[in-house]
Amino acid sequence: MDLENQYGAHNYHPLPVTIATAEGVWVEDIDGNRYLDCLAGYSALNFGHRHPALIAAATEQLGRVTLTSRAFHHDQLGPFCADLATLAGKEAVLPMNSGAEAVETALKLARRWGYLVKGVPDGKATIIVADGNFHGRTISIISFSGDQEAHDNYGPYTPGFRSVPYGDAAALEAAIDEHTVAVLIEPVQGESGVIVPPAGYLPAVRELCTKHNVLMVADEIQSGLGRAGATFASGRAGVVPDVYILGKALGGGIMPLSAVVTDRAVMDVITPGTHGSTFGGNPLAAAIGRAVVKLLEPGDLQAHALAMEQELRDRLEPLRAHGLVGLRVHGLWAGVDLDPTLGTGRDLCEKLAANGVLAKDTHGSTIRLSPPLTVTPDELDWLTDRLTRSLKSLSA
Ligand SMILES: *Cc1c(COP(=O)(O)O)cnc(C)c1O
Repeated sequence: MDLENQYGAHNYHPLPVTIATAEGVWVEDIDGNRYLDCLAGYSALNFGHRHPALIAAATEQLGRVTLTSRAFHHDQLGPFCADLATLAGKEAVLPMNSGAEAVETALKLARRWGYLVKGVPDGKATIIVADGNFHGRTISIISFSGDQEAHDNYGPYTPGFRSVPYGDAAALEAAIDEHTVAVLIEPVQGESGVIVPPAGYLPAVRELCTKHNVLMVADEIQSGLGRAGATFASGRAGVVPDVYILGKALGGGIMPLSAVVTDRAVMDVITPGTHGSTFGGNPLAAAIGRAVVKLLEPGDLQAHALAMEQELRDRLEPLRAHGLVGLRVHGLWAGVDLDPTLGTGRDLCEKLAANGVLAKDTHGSTIRLSPPLTVTPDELDWLTDRLTRSLKSLSA
């Protein structure tokens, strides 16, 4: 921790816990204290730490080949793309590494589609985003972030984005014009505090995008791959976007692996030389990604996450008596607002850590709970007990 502080950049403010080992939903620190991991790598660890099937796939691939670059073919990329496209019900996959890279890829794809297919005049494309969004950390992405900490002092900013209130379909329609190529949306806003839009919003976005010949681009980097109690949060709302952006859990908590998934008519505007990545779709990541897709194919993890939604809600609802003033639960995912007079989300997370639960504040007095999808009702009882203790110690 001291070395990290001395030699590392201070771009995070971690809780004072130094993790040494982890398995499933549990992590252990360098002093042997155990914690229930209720952040799960911001949902990058949906399958828990070191899931045996994922470790086996990674280990096997480590013994074969790890990197080829895309200058050559390798035998993992095709099957990975096929399996992921099938899972998503789409035709084509473009693999990248980080989530932000996949978002950038989707933005590039949408602009290029706008010029080459929709016929938008060169340089005029606009993309509509939602207030409160989080899509990553690149210059273009933070250009349309309303989070001042993420945004300020990084200008000049990338033009071509228009932000509208999240959950307001009328505001979205008013912002669409003939130069609009895409709507980029999180089906549930994770970093904003697990904000679930009103029922009917996502179907309305879908309808508006179809009506105005605009691509609906769903950033499912955090909401997707089981977290929302379905393979995709869009799907749970009965919506099929034109483009999925995936990341986080796609790499199984082992490798960074992200992807843009869409149909051929959109994907094929990208041609050799127009976009790429040295590590994107590398054999190790692709082998892990195949194993991740295999874990999701039967659907029982998604069903478990959906079943745990009510279990989580039933346990958290009574905590309103102990200073919980807001609660949003969607799948195995909860945004919890603490009474601000009791403390900040950070204060609560420090208490939780001291009580053996790892969680992270999103902002202000809001924390997010997103344990691995493998968490059991007994472990949720344990979490509730520790959360109750932590709330009580804040109000004491
Ligand atoms: C985490 C996240 C990103 C960025 O992913 P990185 O891998 O950190 O670049 C983008 N969109 C959403 C919705 C996310 O949760």
